[in-house]
Amino acid sequence: MNLLDYLPGVPDFPKPGILFRDISPLLANPAAFKEAITKLHDLAQSFDYTHILGVESRGFIFGSALALHANKGLIIARKPNKLPLASHREFYGLEYGKDSLEIQQSTIPKEARVLLMDDVLATGGTLIAADKLLRNAGFTVCGAITLLEIGALNGSTILKENGISNKTVLV
Ligand code: AMP
Repeated sequence: MNLLDYLPGVPDFPKPGILFRDISPLLANPAAFKEAITKLHDLAQSFDYTHILGVESRGFIFGSALALHANKGLIIARKPNKLPLASHREFYGLEYGKDSLEIQQSTIPKEARVLLMDDVLATGGTLIAADKLLRNAGFTVCGAITLLEIGALNGSTILKENGISNKTVLV
């Protein structure tokens, strides 16, 4: 099965010039979704982690499925003003805009070794912000995994330059 067949590119969404990878067909196909989680789990096993950090919102879908599959805890990084006890915020740039993420430090175990997770790696801005959020709050980050990297944007290299070891299922 070629998982890319289930992640069709939608041209010019949400802005002209962006080829947006739609995860809906993959989620709607049980065999494709299962294969995606199995492959993410295979990659995750090379990291010594206790918790997965899922980035809102598509990172929640893959992060929660992987957390259950791998028997790990799930931490969520949310968009602003969603967490009742949010303690740390980090601003970042996206391939198509700007945003910020928050975590709730009080509900994350101090000894957590966190593996970052998102569906797509584009410029790397989101995962770098998630990494900073956790490190500024005193947590250990093991690395990052994604389902798909937009190869032309060199996100992987940018993550490495920022000290984040990452693996991806598809490029
Ligand atoms: P970046 O921070 O630039 O690495 O962008 C990654 C985040 O933006 C992820 O949360 C993705 O869900 C989303 N994203 C960025 N570019 C795309 C794209 N071409 N297709 C789908 N999602 C994207």
